[in-house]
Amino acid sequence: MKIIIATHNKHKLAEMARILEPMGYEIVTDRDLGIELTDVEENGKTFLENARIKAVAGCRESGLPCIADDSGLCVDILGGEPGVYSARYSGEHGNDAANNEKLLFNLKDFPDEKRTARFVCAICVSFPDGSEITAEGACEGKIGYEYRGSNGFGYDPLFMVGEKSFAEFTAEEKDAVSHRGNALKKLKELLPTV
Ligand code: IMP
Repeated sequence: MKIIIATHNKHKLAEMARILEPMGYEIVTDRDLGIELTDVEENGKTFLENARIKAVAGCRESGLPCIADDSGLCVDILGGEPGVYSARYSGEHGNDAANNEKLLFNLKDFPDEKRTARFVCAICVSFPDGSEITAEGACEGKIGYEYRGSNGFGYDPLFMVGEKSFAEFTAEEKDAVSHRGNALKKLKELLPTV
């Protein structure tokens, strides 16, 4: 079954395809179909609201089941920030370097035990008949003091799980514990194999 994915983030696309393709789903982008999904405003208050906004719009525009995720980093001592603003924490959407610098700056006075955080991921699959399947996953960690590793994207070089940052994990290691991996595992239970 074809599912359109409402993202151009190649890291997310690869993470989702690795899990859904063995279940018989063919993951396609709007570009594969020769269309362009409208960039909807992600103005939800929660990750799930934003995932739903993207999935419903993508399904309506393509006529195919549409999968969308919304994810981000929640830092306890910052009251859950950057949260749904993770991609635009520094002001400029998608500027990972500036986002990471702002995070390090905001945490500069906090010791190890105050640097607890979690990545959260909500996924919504919206179907042409109006039904939907949703799943959420999280991954607990701590914000480090310096950049480590070169894999992954976003806040990965600062997000420590045990002794390693996410950017030091291989793709398989990350899938096994990540917020997106955990959400996808739940989704897998709910989605029929085709
Ligand atoms: P989204 O594309 O609206 O879901 O924004 C998610 C933002 O959260 C990204 O731009 C990253 O800054 C951050 N993020 C989400 N998932 C990850 C991850 O697996 N690693 C690193 N950063 C992530």
